[in-house]
Amino acid sequence: MIRAVLCLEQTITAKVFFSRSKLSLRFWSLFRILTPLKKKVTIIGGGLAGISLGIGLRKRGIPVRLFEAGQYPRHRVCGEFISGVSEKSLRFIGIEDVFDGMPRHRSTAWYYQGEKAFESALPTPAVGVSRYKLDKDLIDRFEAAGGELFTGTRFTGDLESGQVYATGRARQKGSQWIGIKCHLLDFPLEADLEMHVGEGSYLGLSAVEDNRVDACGLFTLKPEVKAPRLELMSSYLEACGLGQLAERVRTARKDESSCLGVNAFELGWQPEVPGESDRLRIGDRFAIIGPFSGNGMSMAFEGAATAIEPLEAWSKGDLEWKHCREIVDRKLKKLFRRRIAVSNLIHPFLTKKHKQKLLVTMGKMQIIPYASLFRALR
Ligand SMILES: Cc1cc2nc3c(=O)[nH]c(=O)nc-3n(C[C@H](O)[C@H](O)[C@H](O)COP(=O)(O)OP(=O)(O)OC[C@H]3O[C@@H](n4cnc5c(N)ncnc54)[C@H](O)[C@@H]3O)c2cc1C
Repeated sequence: MIRAVLCLEQTITAKVFFSRSKLSLRFWSLFRILTPLKKKVTIIGGGLAGISLGIGLRKRGIPVRLFEAGQYPRHRVCGEFISGVSEKSLRFIGIEDVFDGMPRHRSTAWYYQGEKAFESALPTPAVGVSRYKLDKDLIDRFEAAGGELFTGTRFTGDLESGQVYATGRARQKGSQWIGIKCHLLDFPLEADLEMHVGEGSYLGLSAVEDNRVDACGLFTLKPEVKAPRLELMSSYLEACGLGQLAERVRTARKDESSCLGVNAFELGWQPEVPGESDRLRIGDRFAIIGPFSGNGMSMAFEGAATAIEPLEAWSKGDLEWKHCREIVDRKLKKLFRRRIAVSNLIHPFLTKKHKQKLLVTMGKMQIIPYASLFRALR
């Protein structure tokens, strides 16, 4: 499929070249000055990072094609709780209205081993929207803006200039994590976000559109837990000492197609593919923040916004590919350094037993520097 597309492009280029030779050199030079040719950007991966970048580039008239291995709409393993999103980035991409009419979340209730431990309010509201809806909304905008989309196409082409890797989590052997998600229907909550902490795990429950609640957790992988897809979340909750919650989830009405799991990933900076340091990476392919932060999707938007100008300059021939990639890399490291460091610091407080206890005690005493940690994670 990819080869066919590349062949077609070469044919078109040859035809353009042939007809061009008929034009007078002078006219052609003038034409080139007035309408400089723009090189095409290829985006590999149509998650939030890839699609947002595609939209931002199309809005600036840059030719873009996007390869996505899956189809739209589709559910994804994600808490669907968007916190700390940068309005500036959304505006820069040209999608500032994307969350209009979506549920906003402020109150949170924290539970430890089944008991409510403390409550708190988010310094700024978060947005609840399913990836099923969000990714579809955005991909429609990408196509409406003139982007070329190839779905059901896993990109395996050779490494070339102009390719952006927005392929999500890098597969990492020996990872100890599994993420599990499911949409629960008509599921009452005690706060906008219920956060449940159990043995080596945590799970968030929050509303998205259409009276659905997204249940999504990060669990320490337990190979001994074996269950059918629909039962996987309650089986893991049970195994983590959250029996009551397991029962609540087990007996809830579910959207079966939304019940998914992912593993083989690590949090933090993602590895470069050996020998392919020339890759420009954004989104989860660059760095993954702890899901508890609710900031991963915001980082996908910010990464896309950061890459737009350098890629526009490369496309217009004003910047070498090497420099374009280095600029994006440097800017993203600077933008996310603090967030990743703080996330790595907090993560054990949600997953390691003695640190969980400390977190709960501090929560009960209301001495968690909530606002400062919130800011540091954004
Ligand atoms: C358990 C869990 C809970 C989370 N909860 C939250 C939350 O509540 N709030 C939040 O903000 N973030 C959350 N996140 C993080 C958030 O989901 C990610 O940060 C975000 O999805 C990253 O977007 P992305 O575009 O980089 O990657 P993805 O959304 O993963 O998209 C990558 C895309 O690339 C495609 N692809 C891969 N390889 C190829 C290829 N070779 N060719 C073509 N296509 C390819 C894939 O099919 C995929 O569609 C959570 C993550 C996990 C694991």
